[in-house]
Amino acid sequence: NTFAEIDLGEIMNQNIRRCKYVKPTPVQRYAIPIALAGRDLMACAQTGSGKTAAFCFPIITGIMRDQYVQRSRGGRTVYPLGLILSPTRELSCQIHDEAKKFSYQTGVKVVVAYGGAPINQQLRELERGVDILVATPGRLVDLLERARVSLQAIRYLALDEADRMLDMGFEPQIRKIVEQMDMPNRGVRQTMLFSATFPREIQRLASDFLSNYIFLAV
Ligand code: AMP
Repeated sequence: NTFAEIDLGEIMNQNIRRCKYVKPTPVQRYAIPIALAGRDLMACAQTGSGKTAAFCFPIITGIMRDQYVQRSRGGRTVYPLGLILSPTRELSCQIHDEAKKFSYQTGVKVVVAYGGAPINQQLRELERGVDILVATPGRLVDLLERARVSLQAIRYLALDEADRMLDMGFEPQIRKIVEQMDMPNRGVRQTMLFSATFPREIQRLASDFLSNYIFLAV
């Protein structure tokens, strides 16, 4: 029950030590090996359970392993490899802050985009290249409509606090977003759905977005 037992590689282990995480929380202990094995995942986990690291570690490690994939290329339209959707600006910024610490010295670049703030600075940041995009659904739809972000290269998708995103009425945006990555990537994309609760609507999202998934409740 240590991070060393989970095969995240030396750079990640250093970053974990730098974060002063001594041992994995339950959701990390079970979710990270499942995700590293390439399986889709539906995890019921509360805020404070350590779920951010549970989906960030496998995405960062995966992108480091996929070294043949061209990364961080900037430009007018950018092609992130990983996407983390979250309901609010606050949560997106929190995830971004943590993901930056976790990806220190990995070469994996994390950028955040959220609504309720001017888009121009976010556009400039995106133009410089992005491997993992953390975004709120509304702002991401805006970026897609402006053709500033393409989801054609997405290999890793995490939906955080999915129940809260549905409560806030983001289901149409989420479906629109996922539809854009479906065609070329079917079978390539790995998806992780995190939710505090597992009502019928979340079960429906899970069966629509995940393939052959493992269900985890901690
Ligand atoms: P989260 O549920 O992802 O919002 O994490 C809740 C808090 O726990 C955050 O402040 C994390 O930095 C911290 N945390 C996450 N994983 C661990 C761990 N394995 N050991 C100690 N603290 C952790």
